[in-house]
Amino acid sequence: MSGTIRFAPSPTGFLHEGHLLSALYVWAAAKKWDLKIHLRIEDHDQGRARKEYIDSIYEDLAWLGFRYDSESIQSSHFDFFQRILEKLDEKGLVYPCTCSRKQLIAENPRSETGEVIYQGKCRTQPHPCSEPHSLRIAIPDKVIDWHDERLGDFNESPKFQCGDFPIRDRDGFWTYQFAVCIDDIAQGITHIVRGEDILPSTARQILLSEMISDACDASKILPAYRRPLYLHHPLIVDSTGKKLSKREHAHSIRQDKDQGVSPEQLLGRVLYKAKMLSEDTPISLERAIALVAEKL
Ligand code: GLU
Ligand code: ZN
Repeated sequence: MSGTIRFAPSPTGFLHEGHLLSALYVWAAAKKWDLKIHLRIEDHDQGRARKEYIDSIYEDLAWLGFRYDSESIQSSHFDFFQRILEKLDEKGLVYPCTCSRKQLIAENPRSETGEVIYQGKCRTQPHPCSEPHSLRIAIPDKVIDWHDERLGDFNESPKFQCGDFPIRDRDGFWTYQFAVCIDDIAQGITHIVRGEDILPSTARQILLSEMISDACDASKILPAYRRPLYLHHPLIVDSTGKKLSKREHAHSIRQDKDQGVSPEQLLGRVLYKAKMLSEDTPISLERAIALVAEKL
């Protein structure tokens, strides 16, 4: 085995066809590059994660036949996230932001993708942290050059994509960006294969991982950071080429299962929608993985 890849669903809903396509890519990459597979339940957002969604991730994967080598759930190590926060804080890299959503929208410019580019108001004009606040990471003005195995080279500057971003939200929950960076380093993830909807997060995750790794260097509470290989896969699109919304992924895997659809039928349908099969015909998991592996 030459590394580890992860499948990292968020238990904020039931798994649907989009997750299934992602899983096929992850298992295909593991086959192609001889990797161990880690299942990570990303329940960092305790306001939205639910136990029934967590249970169904395990059940749906087992029903489809996906096997993995190890697993973890983020909520079991939130105290570790706190320790990393303290390391960043000791370096003066974290600050409270009391801006409300309304203020954020009114006071900051937007990127081409519509994202608020936080101009660092609370970094320069600190407020008492007795008010509700998120915690933001003070990022340097740095261009990140990175490579995607499918899409080629990128050079992006998180400062101009989003500015300083939250690592803990106003409700006190760890953000996706913070949780994912720590876990990918701590779990020795060497390969990241995920949907291209997450493309805009990659440069900021590389930057944050470097900052985390620098801040933790002396304490050795994390292994050394080695930038993983990235591959962002295409999403299932509708006939006009638009990404399917959550609503259009109408059935969850669970609903299909309850209606008597077999795993093979479901796999065939997803690969057909992803244009990797020319007709909507049942296919075994093994063949489905092999088919996706050919596309990598
Ligand atoms: N938890 C994220 C999601 O379900 C995926 C995270 C990742 O692959 O980096 O969208
Ligand atoms: Zn602010």
